[in-house]
Amino acid sequence: MKKISLIPGDGIGPEVTDAAIACIDALGVDIEWEVVYAGEPAVEKCGKLLPQETLDSIRKNKVALKGPITTPIGSGFRSINVALRQELDLYACVRPSWYIEGGNSKYPGLDLIIVRENSEDLYAGVEFQEHTPKCDGLIEYINGISEKKVRPGSAISIKPFSRFACERIIRFAFEMAKKENRRKVSCIHKANIMKYTDGLFLKIFREIAADYASIEANDTIVDNLCMQLVMRPHEFDVLVLPNLYGDIVSDLCAGLMGGLGVAPGANIGEETALFEPVHGAAPKYAGKNKVNPVATILSAQLMLKYLGEDKKAKILEEAVLAVIKEKKYTTYDLKPTRTDPTAVGTKEMTKAIVSKIKASL
Ligand code: NAD
Repeated sequence: MKKISLIPGDGIGPEVTDAAIACIDALGVDIEWEVVYAGEPAVEKCGKLLPQETLDSIRKNKVALKGPITTPIGSGFRSINVALRQELDLYACVRPSWYIEGGNSKYPGLDLIIVRENSEDLYAGVEFQEHTPKCDGLIEYINGISEKKVRPGSAISIKPFSRFACERIIRFAFEMAKKENRRKVSCIHKANIMKYTDGLFLKIFREIAADYASIEANDTIVDNLCMQLVMRPHEFDVLVLPNLYGDIVSDLCAGLMGGLGVAPGANIGEETALFEPVHGAAPKYAGKNKVNPVATILSAQLMLKYLGEDKKAKILEEAVLAVIKEKKYTTYDLKPTRTDPTAVGTKEMTKAIVSKIKASL
């Protein structure tokens, strides 16, 4: 039996992780779930946002499934999702985006994978609040050494890029492309403006691409990429991006795929992996049996592939795709309008997927 850490999360998290567990149970995969907490639920249980017990559990089990966790905007604590990725050094965020028949996607033939660097860039958390002695001192220092001046009283976020982090994410993207028989890897950047940070990312991409002669390598500026993804997403295959662009483009690609309700994700490190949907905690729908469980179920499907359970992963994927294609037991977000009376709830859609799984075993 394989032990896996389970973080139910908050908001809609517990409902969608329950759905994924029901599917894995139906597949008969021998998993023991070790339930641990993070974010507000962890504060309620043990007074800490990210308990040591949670990190220890994931480090020990090496694999985790996670529901979304709320992060307050602008003030309050820093993202627990980002903290988990940093603490566990889950440096690669992998988010596939493909056309699902019967879903909301307007892009038949869409089939791409986003590989987002997860540890550095503007997400590193090196920030200074305006009008604090540290921030004012930093501005004074910068204005002393830089031709470009920072306006006094500014707030500052730092964008660090190391050769180490660039090399490992770019190599990860090419290795994944090789393993998954992908034809092309595109480096996404803004090196025309950020010549040293994004410039380093692009330079290292070109160096590493030379080691993978059988895979086409090209680069695109991130704003141009957004336009091209909307016009011609079929032209892209594997995209490797710095952290912040990766975050934004992931949601764009979730939209191309048919919405956040169906977009899965994985955070991968050298030894540990954590699987979670792209979407957040959607608080307005929490506890309402309303949201689409597919993003989390497909994240669990990525987890099964990672565990080497390829056959079970395939059965799970086919069950999900069949239910979406039939359009009968699907949640509101997969209907033509948000108020479609034929929409079913999270539990009913999960039940339909579980029935398909059982029928194919
Ligand atoms: P969100 O993804 O939670 O929700 C935005 C909207 O997308 C929802 O209102 C809903 O209309 C739709 N949606 C999301 N998931 C859906 C699903 N499964 N089925 C159907 N529709 C779905 O984004 P947000 O409102 O920006 O964020 C809410 C909270 O979640 C914030 O605190 C944010 O920080 C957090 N968040 C967490 C994660 C994570 O845990 N990895 C990721 C993103 C956001």
